[in-house]
Amino acid sequence: MTVWDDVVGQPEAVGVLRRAATDPAAMTHAWLLTGPPGSGRSVAARAFAAALQCPEGGCGHCRECTTTLAGTHPDLTVVATDKVVIAIDEVRDLITTAARTPSVGRYRVIVVEDADRMVERTTNVLLKSIEEPPAHTVWVLCAPSSQDVLPTIRSRCRGVVLRVPPARDVAELLVRRDGTDPAVALQAAQAAQSHVGMARRLARDPEARRRRADVLEIARRIRGVPDAVLAAADLVEVAKAEATAATTERDAAERAELLRALGVAEGETVPPKLRSQVKQLEDDQKRRATRSQRDVLDRAMVDLLSLYRDVLVVQLGADVDLVNAEQAATVRGLARDSTPEQTVRRMDAIGQARERLAGNVAPLLAVEAMTVALRPQG
Ligand SMILES: [Zn+2]
Repeated sequence: MTVWDDVVGQPEAVGVLRRAATDPAAMTHAWLLTGPPGSGRSVAARAFAAALQCPEGGCGHCRECTTTLAGTHPDLTVVATDKVVIAIDEVRDLITTAARTPSVGRYRVIVVEDADRMVERTTNVLLKSIEEPPAHTVWVLCAPSSQDVLPTIRSRCRGVVLRVPPARDVAELLVRRDGTDPAVALQAAQAAQSHVGMARRLARDPEARRRRADVLEIARRIRGVPDAVLAAADLVEVAKAEATAATTERDAAERAELLRALGVAEGETVPPKLRSQVKQLEDDQKRRATRSQRDVLDRAMVDLLSLYRDVLVVQLGADVDLVNAEQAATVRGLARDSTPEQTVRRMDAIGQARERLAGNVAPLLAVEAMTVALRPQG
């Protein structure tokens, strides 16, 4: 076993990072790991951090390796944010941390999981530290693509690109790590289009599989405009419920923790002079809920897109595996009842809805335009 075992389907990236950890000539102090969601950016970043701390370059079982992978190594700082943006104060703190010499490890490693969530002003604060880092400090920034970070940052980092891992590799990981049944694992990995976290959730949680099936059902359910409007409302509603379920518990825990830190007893009213801090937390939580809802919706659209991709595969007679093997009957039905041109137009409509959502259009508006475009047309 080594620290690289969980970095699925990325032989090239692992090769570069592994060499850097063991060969000083291949090492540099600022890295930018890019790859689509679910490609394992943060897993790769942690594995790299462990390899940097490990005297053997990532053995996977020494104290340096295990504590780094667990996120408890004293010389590792991981910024994983649920917020929409990383705050400038947070980055200032990071730079102070970066200046300290490592306490036990070979390096001080700072991983920023969503480097794309920094506004320009914040990025500028970071620049100098990345450009001339203290000798023992390594920055590992992660982002979906190099276009998502400012050119000034990009040009100062060594880039490592992660690809979408093959579904087979993701399935193997689920079997090895979680003891998932191989057939279930492969189906989940295909349905999740190799998004590791999503595949694991689908493999483990029948409720998640049911929700996904419900989303795909939309493709068959829409017969006309009224159905389309209803389906859109349902989608948005379900996304909201799912986002709320995911955040409620955490919100309450965070609030309790803040009140404790401020010295306010449970059930006591918050004194006026402390209210702004509580308000700040509530605002952050609200933003997180909005983001979470958009993420859930985007996921639903990616699932729908995969269904129409399957339809197109059948229509064109391509010899490729269906992403949605479980929905084969629906796929064949849609393939029979429409033309490849119509399928492409539908896929475009979904893509457009995703763009609108990302651009902060009201979710219901974006989704409704999409579902209306999905209805059968002559
Ligand atoms: Zn080790």
